[in-house]
Amino acid sequence: MPTDGGRVVIVGCGVVGAAIAYELSQVNGLAITVVDRQPPARASTGAALGVLMGVISQKTKGRAWNLRQTSLRRYQQWLPELEALTEQPVPVNRQGVLLLSFEEDLSKWETLSSIRQQQGWPLELWRPAQVGDRCPQVSLNAVTAGIYSPQDYQIDPTALTRALVTGAAQRGVQFDFSSPVASLEFVDATGQRCVGVRTAQGDRLLADWVVIASGLGTTPLLDALPLPKIDIRPVLGQAMRVKLGEPMGDRTFQPVITGDDIHIVPLGQGEYWIGATVEFPESDFSTTDSFSKLEAIAANPAALETVWEGAIALCPELSQAEVLHTWSGLRPRPANRPAPVLERLNTCPNLILATGHYRNGVLLAPATAEWVKGEILAGIE
Ligand SMILES: Cc1cc2nc3c(=O)[nH]c(=O)nc-3n(C[C@H](O)[C@H](O)[C@H](O)COP(=O)(O)OP(=O)(O)OC[C@H]3O[C@@H](n4cnc5c(N)ncnc54)[C@H](O)[C@@H]3O)c2cc1C
Repeated sequence: MPTDGGRVVIVGCGVVGAAIAYELSQVNGLAITVVDRQPPARASTGAALGVLMGVISQKTKGRAWNLRQTSLRRYQQWLPELEALTEQPVPVNRQGVLLLSFEEDLSKWETLSSIRQQQGWPLELWRPAQVGDRCPQVSLNAVTAGIYSPQDYQIDPTALTRALVTGAAQRGVQFDFSSPVASLEFVDATGQRCVGVRTAQGDRLLADWVVIASGLGTTPLLDALPLPKIDIRPVLGQAMRVKLGEPMGDRTFQPVITGDDIHIVPLGQGEYWIGATVEFPESDFSTTDSFSKLEAIAANPAALETVWEGAIALCPELSQAEVLHTWSGLRPRPANRPAPVLERLNTCPNLILATGHYRNGVLLAPATAEWVKGEILAGIE
């Protein structure tokens, strides 16, 4: 186990940075500090719905599937472990995800279901009558099938992130939630070895490893450096919390229902999260823009209205619901490359990028953390 070269600074404490901190806290001999400009789970993570579309995704091989599978397995360990360690409940819906299909041709789902069978992850194809039977709240109008994934679930992203922070802190990780990182520090202008970070307050944090988990803050941090450009762009998402007098359908079976890219997430006691829009900002701006400029990107009310109407079309009882509140967030999406960006740079091997998780940061956080741990352990040994 490492004793030397074990100072790690993680920039960013969304779900990804918190997951990395928690995973690394289990390695003896690392001295870990997480730096953020604000408290945990305030940026993209604070807006997320926490739906884990792993088994039900069309990714069946390569990195995309491996990350999903690793995360789902890791969550099965983490959730009980975290609750025992932190005594903080992490709300989790384990009743699965029901995806409504409107396509006549179901062959892609039949193929996926048989691949998943071989991979050991069950996926059920339901006829419309079975959908109506199990979930009577669903309008069967135009539904051609239900794809039910019992092992995909939904986790409250903010509660999860806080539990990861508490768990990591109990294992000795230091957190600083009031320090914007202004720059990375290098041995010299070649940028071949990162020696730490400098905060906006001028403090210098020395590190043997710097992990960038700063989502939309990534491009401004790396832009001035002699490194390949990492272009992370914002994609806005809006969502809402609504309340009915009582839960829709069978009270004992309340899976996440998803159709037409709209999620209906049961929260208990007749409350639901509904979302999310996927809005690409119209004006092309520089991704090195400051946070205040990014945060000024306007949400389009009509886009949220469309999602709300779509949700009512899926489950008509929702038309009776009271809208409790609405919100928006910016997803960090890498331009011109698949999400996420997981990279230990050849040109600067002690700088690790774990960013750009776009629409799946909650799903992919545990696998990302495991990958970062592997890179650091391989680098130390
Ligand atoms: C409406 C909506 C719904 C979503 N639903 C889902 C879902 O159902 N399932 C799912 O898996 N994903 C979902 N996502 C996507 C998910 O939210 C993101 O992929 C995930 O939160 C990314 O996590 P992160 O930790 O990388 O980034 P963030 O949560 O954005 O965290 C980055 C952190 O870095 C900090 N930071 C940045 N720059 C600096 C700096 N220079 N100095 C100090 N700190 C810095 C920020 O303050 C922030 O706290 C959704 C997103 C939105 C907007």
